[in-house]
Amino acid sequence: MNTWRLNSTGWIEVICGSMFSGKSEELIRRLRRAQIARQRVQIFKPRIDDRYSDDHIVSHSELRIESQSVSSSQDILESLGDRTEVVGSDEAQFFDDGIVAVCEKLANMGKRVIVAGLDKDYRGVPFDPIPELLAIAEYITKTLAICVRCGNPAANCTQRLVKSGKRILVGHGNAYEARCRRCYEPPEEAAEEEAAQPRAAVASG
Ligand code: ADP
Ligand code: ZN
Repeated sequence: MNTWRLNSTGWIEVICGSMFSGKSEELIRRLRRAQIARQRVQIFKPRIDDRYSDDHIVSHSELRIESQSVSSSQDILESLGDRTEVVGSDEAQFFDDGIVAVCEKLANMGKRVIVAGLDKDYRGVPFDPIPELLAIAEYITKTLAICVRCGNPAANCTQRLVKSGKRILVGHGNAYEARCRRCYEPPEEAAEEEAAQPRAAVASG
């Protein structure tokens, strides 16, 4: 008989990085282990991401775990079972900003919350609401890909290979590749934006 239970304090774990860096693999690994430990696990993903499967989280390496698609962060709270101990979600960058308060609430209720998501978009801009989730997380894991151009094992950028100004572009199988900071080429429109609005100088001290 398994009598071990999580104690009543919850926490938030965030797994973030570029595309192909192994976020989904790491999320699936943690959730699978929680299931092996016979904890009650609920797994969600935002409905926008139906590239591979509507009812599974699927990694680029074909690992998969059953999940429930939801239309908004509020749906996570509404679908939550009374006895759920672990709540996981992939593609957290596609949730509305309410996901931050939802994760906080779940952790305050004593749940282990594990969320994975892209930390930067194809222009290299922080992908909200991931930065806010990083700020409230107890544990952060940054995953890195291999640069497909030069083999650098610390690739941190998602290179978009098709021209589009849209921040979210799903359903395009070969639209992205992983690149390191040296090989990454910012899209033209991003370079223009940056030139028009130079970053504020970082205050020292
Ligand atoms: P993410 O969720 O971060 O997009 P996945 O967990 O879905 O990543 O996929 C990671 C897997 O993708 C790796 O184990 C590997 O099999 C595959 N892969 C494809 N291209 C790359 C790359 N450039 N660097 C690392 N892994 C890659
Ligand atoms: Zn490179």
